[in-house]
Amino acid sequence: MSKGLLIIISGPSGAGKGTVCKGLMSMQLPELEVSVSATTRKPRTGEVEGISYFFKEKEEFEQMISRNEFIEYAQVYDNFYGTPRSHVQEKLNNGKDVILEIDIQGAMQVKKNNPEGVFVFIMPPSFEELKNRITSRGTETQADIIKRLHEAYNEVRLSRNYDYIVVNDDVNLAAEKVKSIITAEKCKLKRFKIDYNSYKEE
Ligand code: 5GP
Repeated sequence: MSKGLLIIISGPSGAGKGTVCKGLMSMQLPELEVSVSATTRKPRTGEVEGISYFFKEKEEFEQMISRNEFIEYAQVYDNFYGTPRSHVQEKLNNGKDVILEIDIQGAMQVKKNNPEGVFVFIMPPSFEELKNRITSRGTETQADIIKRLHEAYNEVRLSRNYDYIVVNDDVNLAAEKVKSIITAEKCKLKRFKIDYNSYKEE
């Protein structure tokens, strides 16, 4: 069995990467799974332990760092987020394709150690639209909104380190594009070990 694909999806806050990932998961691709991260952020209403995140105290998270249990981790705004190594490795080894929906600092760490990953950057259609989305979702304070908009400029510039750009002006279309990227990546020559002799007339 060949190893699964590691797909890294990131983009600035408000680009809609979470919604695009949800759209993709709703297509129920049989081999596709999304990795569940650990975070020190407090759960929001409706979030479920082990499904949305593994919610950790800061001390626990630091112990996980010192035991090298993360593929990557980063401080995003005021909280820590990290991708648990064991879950992801196990899934990939079982032939599952795994999506990491993570911030850009984390994605760049993954790239250093897993250059074979597929790096997809979700781009907002425009800065105006990004501003609308961040302001209208109503989950951040005014100070947070200003911080996120300021960060967006630096983040968009880092898109040059990715393999694919998907502009998210229509979430269904964006999810379809990510699906096509996954399909194409799975057809790459390097993923096949072809026994050419089996195609020869005896
Ligand atoms: P939120 O608090 O809104 O769920 O997520 C905030 C940011 O943290 C988002 O950009 C999200 O992609 C990112 N994030 C979630 N999980 C991880 C992770 O495991 N590692 C990193 N580096 N970022 C993450």
